[in-house]
Formats: sequence, structure tokens, C-alpha cells
Amino acid sequence: MAKRNIVTREDPILRKHSRPVENVDDRIRMLLDDMYDTMKDVGVGIAAVQVGVLRRAVVIDVGEGRIDLINPVITETSGQQKEIEGCLSCPGENGYTLRPMKVTVKALNMDGDEITVYGEGLLARALCHEIDHLDGILFTDKVVEKVKFED
Ligand code: ZN
Repeated sequence: MAKRNIVTREDPILRKHSRPVENVDDRIRMLLDDMYDTMKDVGVGIAAVQVGVLRRAVVIDVGEGRIDLINPVITETSGQQKEIEGCLSCPGENGYTLRPMKVTVKALNMDGDEITVYGEGLLARALCHEIDHLDGILFTDKVVEKVKFED
């Protein structure tokens, strides 16, 4: 596994739509491993576009174990939460967003099997945030209240 460079907000690639993964092969598995390595010590999730690859692939770990999602789709949402969000691609920026409290996501895993992931709270936020990246959406588009942290 290897760390890759994280694309930051100035790069227009973050605004592009990612393409579906057609074959779950070693290349995509290596990409997901690299994404996990890049994200694990600094965040709770990452989308492939954040390492410059326009493919619908996401890795999330909110402290409950690694979740790999290929071609993820949100199929159900319920409730609402207003919490502080940030993004590896937007260093120094934080703000409150409104997200569903619970989400259900269908995707493929690293073996190419169909999986259903159910998330609540932080996991629900992470799922929404990362899946938004696949359509060129940043959390900053959804901030309802900015937050300034003193260093
Ligand atoms: Zn992000």
C-alpha cells in the first residue's frame, strides 16, 4: 500500500463526475488500499477523486473498521442531523451541514459482491459526504453555518 497525494480544493477535478467502476479487479483493489493508507491517520473517509482518480470508489473508517464501497448509491435516508464537517481536500475549513441521521447504501465490495451498508450519525455523514464527492459536490456547498477554530 502507498500513500497518494490528496487533491485540494483549487483543483477543478473535484468538481467532475466520477465514472462507474466496470470491473472490480486488482487495479481497483490497489487504488482502494492506497486510498485507505492515505486517509487512515488523517480522516474518516476518502473518495477516489481526492487522489485524482475519477472512479466511483470510496473508503470509509469512522473507527468501526474499514468499509470499501464501489459504485455506491444511497437508497434510503431518514431523519436529520446538523453537525460539523470538514474535508481532507478543504484544509482549515469547517462548517455545520444538514445530513440525514440514517442512510442505507448499496454498493459493491472489493470482491465485487453486492453489499448493503447501513449508517447512523457519523457514519451516515461520512457516507453522504464521500458519495457527494463522486458527483463533484463538496461539503462547503452544503454548509449552513461556518465554524472558525482558533489554533
Ligand atoms: Zn471530502
